[in-house]
Amino acid sequence: MATISLWLLRRCRASGVLTYKTNNVRRCSQFSSSYQLSTATVGEKQAFDVDQAASLVKDLRNNFHSGKTKSYEWRVVQLQRIMRMLEENQKKIVEALYKDLAKPEPESFFWEISITNASCKLILEQLKGWMMPEKVQTNSATMSLSSAEIVSEPLGVVLVISPWNFPLLLSLDPVIGAIAAGNTVVVKPSEISSATSSVLSNLLEEYVDNSAIRVVEGSVAETSALLEQKWDKIFFTGGERVGRIVMAAAAKHLTPVVLELGGKCPAIVDSNVDLQVAARRITAGKWACNNGQICIGVDYIITTKEFAPKLIEALRNELEACFGKDPMESKDRSRIVNSSHFKRLANLMDEDKVSDKIVLGGQRDESQLQIAPTILLNVPEDSLIMQEEIFGPLLPILTVENLEDSIEVINRKPKPLAAYLFSDDEQLKTKFVQNVSAGGMTINDTRRHVFVSGLPFGGVGKSGMGSYHGKFSFDIFCHKKAVLYRSFAGDDKMSYPPYHTYKG
Ligand code: NAD
Repeated sequence: MATISLWLLRRCRASGVLTYKTNNVRRCSQFSSSYQLSTATVGEKQAFDVDQAASLVKDLRNNFHSGKTKSYEWRVVQLQRIMRMLEENQKKIVEALYKDLAKPEPESFFWEISITNASCKLILEQLKGWMMPEKVQTNSATMSLSSAEIVSEPLGVVLVISPWNFPLLLSLDPVIGAIAAGNTVVVKPSEISSATSSVLSNLLEEYVDNSAIRVVEGSVAETSALLEQKWDKIFFTGGERVGRIVMAAAAKHLTPVVLELGGKCPAIVDSNVDLQVAARRITAGKWACNNGQICIGVDYIITTKEFAPKLIEALRNELEACFGKDPMESKDRSRIVNSSHFKRLANLMDEDKVSDKIVLGGQRDESQLQIAPTILLNVPEDSLIMQEEIFGPLLPILTVENLEDSIEVINRKPKPLAAYLFSDDEQLKTKFVQNVSAGGMTINDTRRHVFVSGLPFGGVGKSGMGSYHGKFSFDIFCHKKAVLYRSFAGDDKMSYPPYHTYKG
């Protein structure tokens, strides 16, 4: 755990958020809008219906057409306010995340606050350059005396729908991209992480321009009311089932969508690895981050029959190093988010052909919503645990005779959001990169590719469509408008009828 904490601390320093502070709310009165927010805090206020959704979108569209969100200055002020909001409310945010998921404070600090802060910081550094039209060569003879450029223009009014597992990061990170690109935006956080949803709603109302940036809280009814509206883009992060609902709703208006979905992320482990380092990195990628409730976590491992016992022993040691002798007592693991997810995970463990495959862990406590880090060896491929995304602390290990067969095992399944390989074999690395299709991959570690701001983050096939992070977050919320400037000189008669000068 010491290594993880140090690493977290280094990342936090790099992103510019260093100290925990108590809440110190500051209102930005110049931005408070006369429009009354029609948000529905579940169970407290009146439900948010289709009429209110229509009125909200109309309002935001008018404000978009006023042109205010297009200026560089407006975008910068909003991003600065978000950074200040994060800095001044760390304690409040950490508490809400603890309430929702028992998220350990260092994880909340790094994964939710610091990464969001780093996104703002990067955009603030680069935005001016990104907004500049990009010159394009016009090298054809018929285009002499012309110039061409790509203009990044905002799309208009966009909708962001987010999940419960990183409820701050996955709500704000797309919103930051939408603001950077000059859009007005509505964000609908998950009702399952209701404490963070409420904090986010209150804070954004206080800190940013409410005439262009809104939060709508709620669940299916509220999201359905929003989805009935015409948006210029919908950015959805969540599961495949709801992804289909979002895409069907968007199709009615020909609205483009980004779907950030999940799936089963594999990790192949070779026998030539530094076993202790590999086991530590797998442990971190599986259990030390939201207790396995992470879309890019290791869903299952493939290794050889001979190596599996050594790998399991190494994982046992690393688990003990991270979470102590009794992981059920550890404060360094989030809990399962709610009882329906607890039951879903228990069902995966209890299936007939699976329950006798547990080789480590298996303890559970429904009253605490806790399941111990659990390893299962050689579960059948047609079991539920190998058919659906696990999204929890269960880790099946499949074995193969020859490690190269692992690629075929992965390719029999839908394309994952992330894929991992632990190996020192250069040929195997090349084969893996060339033959496994996945949203992204890290070789010899887990999850780290998502921290490289120059790399796009998104899925492929069933794990999603579209990507963001870094400049991709700006581009995904822009239309890349093709613009050609012509001179009145240099006209070419061949281009106009009559065509009798044409020789073929
Ligand atoms: P979910 O699909 O159940 O919910 C996501 C959002 O959709 C929530 O805001 C929810 O209120 C809304 N929603 C739920 N049912 C709806 C319906 N019938 N109609 C309209 N809206 C509805 O996802 P979740 O359980 O919150 O999150 C877990 C899933 O998200 C996992 O599959 C995980 O892999 C995926 N995920 C992906 C990423 C990524 O970046 N690719 C990140 C985190 C989570």
